[in-house]
Amino acid sequence: MKIVFATGNPHKLKEIKEIAGDSDIEFILPPDGFNPVENGATFEENSFIKAKEAARVSKMMSLADDSGLCVEALDGGPGIYSARYADTPQKRIDKLLQALAPFENRNAKFVCAMTLVDADGHKVFSTVGECCGKIATKQAGSGGFGYDPIFLVENSDKTMAELSEEEKNLISHRGRALRTVIRYLSSL
Ligand code: IMP
Repeated sequence: MKIVFATGNPHKLKEIKEIAGDSDIEFILPPDGFNPVENGATFEENSFIKAKEAARVSKMMSLADDSGLCVEALDGGPGIYSARYADTPQKRIDKLLQALAPFENRNAKFVCAMTLVDADGHKVFSTVGECCGKIATKQAGSGGFGYDPIFLVENSDKTMAELSEEEKNLISHRGRALRTVIRYLSSL
């Protein structure tokens, strides 16, 4: 089964393909013209917007995720603004470490909402995956992407960026959400 995965982020597509592993689903990128306006108020709304846009341009069943980092001491921020928190990945990390400096509470979680739509853009399934942890005081590791170097995995002294791809995919918000979607598709 071919499904369009609505993203322009090559790291995400790579993770999605690895998580889907030997399932019979082949994820492909949306064709030219994919230009979602991510103006939803929640991860769920934004994933639906992206999935509908991918179906509009591809006329195929499409899956989208919207994800981000929610930090307790920052009232859940940067949340849906994670990708836009600062100009570059390193500036986003620096800004977050600075914002958290006054706080003892460093609890955080990665959240990933996924929405599956049919070729007409109608929602057929949605789910949310979460991965809890803490924000480190300094960055470590070179794997993954985004905030991975400062996200300390729960019950571990490693950051997400210090895990292997397989280890990250087993516990990540995206891994959890995608495995739920795959279970749904396999049950049809
Ligand atoms: P999206 O592409 O609009 O869903 O934005 C997701 C943003 O959240 C990314 O650009 C990262 O900054 C952050 N993010 C989401 N998932 C991860 C992850 O697995 N590791 C690190 N950062 C992530």
